[in-house]
Amino acid sequence: MATPTATSPQHAGAFLQGTKRLLIDGELVDAASGATFETIDPGTGEVLATVAEGGAEDIDRAVKAARRAFEGEWSTLNPSERGRIIHRIGDLIAENAEELAELDSLDNGKPKAVAQAADVALAADLFWYMAGWATKIKGGTVTPSVPYLPGAEFHAYTLREPIGVVGQIIPWNFPLLMAAWKLGPALTTGNTVVLKPAEQTPLSALRLGELMLEAGLPKGVVNVVPGFGETAGAALAEHPDVNKIAFTGSTEVGKLIARAATGNLKRVSLELGGKSPNIIFDDADVDAAIAGAAQGIFFNQGEVCSAGSRLYVAEEHFDQVVEGVSAAAKGIKVGYGMDADTEMGPLVSQEQFDRVTGYLKKGQEEGSSAVAGGNNIDRPGYYVEPTVITGADANHAIVREEVFGPVIAALPFSDVEDLARQANDSHYGLAAGVWTRDISKAHKLAKRIQAGTVHINTYHVFSAELPFGGYKQSGWGREMGEEVLNNYLETKSVIVGL
Ligand code: NAP
Ligand code: MG
Repeated sequence: MATPTATSPQHAGAFLQGTKRLLIDGELVDAASGATFETIDPGTGEVLATVAEGGAEDIDRAVKAARRAFEGEWSTLNPSERGRIIHRIGDLIAENAEELAELDSLDNGKPKAVAQAADVALAADLFWYMAGWATKIKGGTVTPSVPYLPGAEFHAYTLREPIGVVGQIIPWNFPLLMAAWKLGPALTTGNTVVLKPAEQTPLSALRLGELMLEAGLPKGVVNVVPGFGETAGAALAEHPDVNKIAFTGSTEVGKLIARAATGNLKRVSLELGGKSPNIIFDDADVDAAIAGAAQGIFFNQGEVCSAGSRLYVAEEHFDQVVEGVSAAAKGIKVGYGMDADTEMGPLVSQEQFDRVTGYLKKGQEEGSSAVAGGNNIDRPGYYVEPTVITGADANHAIVREEVFGPVIAALPFSDVEDLARQANDSHYGLAAGVWTRDISKAHKLAKRIQAGTVHINTYHVFSAELPFGGYKQSGWGREMGEEVLNNYLETKSVIVGL
């Protein structure tokens, strides 16, 4: 593995200088308390940058700015003007792709090449896609039947309106992309936003805030307030003048958000954890399925809410698939994210490293075994080996709980009739994969699986056009597609007596 110093940032260097400040009302400002925190490069464990630490007072200032912006210039822009600004945000993301990819690589640990090809490209595309919706949000006309007013005539129609000031709290696994998923739809529907990025990865959201101003977004429409979940995040979720809160992160914190929202009954959407089944049938293209299973768990260090972490394999192919996925795991070049040949970076933080290595240890204690990987990598930073587990039982933590790391548990099956039950045997329901050449079987199973996304003969397909989100405890509402607009709009019925 190369040393980190081999590849210092070519594009993000300037942005990393000095204390990064909060973006409130179009200005970069210090926290009211003057507090700062350090964001760490997980590839080295060393300090990457110092960031102003937003607290409750800063959140309140940002909410007030967002309220003024909602009632001011933003609401007077026509949809076409709004759409053009959102489109320009996509353009500026694309124009600054290398810098944004470096920021996410340095802050999160992921390979820069992956950040550029996936995170940054998808973020730009999300804004381009959402820009088009600005001019297409519309209600409908309705003919009311009112039995207690015989003979009365009406003209009635519906209006779709922005909800108002939106609080958005995002995680660290796709820092820029999660900001895009949240901001794009909130803006195209005419809302204003206070965004709190994760404490582990605040940098690209702050840079995006600057690019948004450059794109012509009026001041206060998007405010970015980094800080900690328990302080800044909680203040946002509880704030009485926030009309809606959108959250992505753990199911545990999602429940706290839902509770905090009860004060003013703000609208809530949640995109939470997963423990997604990836199912390989006896009639699958086994080589493609092996590659898909490996990519389904190892992409982004396994720090993906929809990672295919439970691998169900038809008994007759079990050994071949385990061998194939293990070979893929052993072949992955783990290293510093900024090195050009790195395929998998470190985990995001000491906390996440402890969590994942804790599950590896627990797996051993429960009696399963690692046929590939199974250990951390002894070097500075938070590196673990891509790991394939066999011999686990359906009740083991490694099969039931979200590890959020590059760890897959492979389980053989023989009873096809029982598969849907096994796949659905989880309180999560985010995604699934099915590998078979039998289209009828594939579609029948897709219908029975309780998950927001079912992949057939592919895995990890994310697109601005496709709704994404969870059944059961994987969330409320959907991100992306036309569907996400419902998260950010109220519907009003207007009735005229004729
Ligand atoms: P997390 O605690 O749920 O963090 C997600 C976001 O919520 C962060 O911005 C966090 O702020 C904030 N937050 C934390 N506590 C809060 C509170 N009481 N009120 C308001 N906001 C709060 O996730 P994590 O601890 O970083 O990661 C743990 C697990 O979450 C992972 O192992 C994984 O299982 C899951 N996860 C899921 C997704 C997904 O896409 N569904 C993404 C990431 C993680 P700070 O980070 O500043 O504390
Ligand atoms: Mg956290």
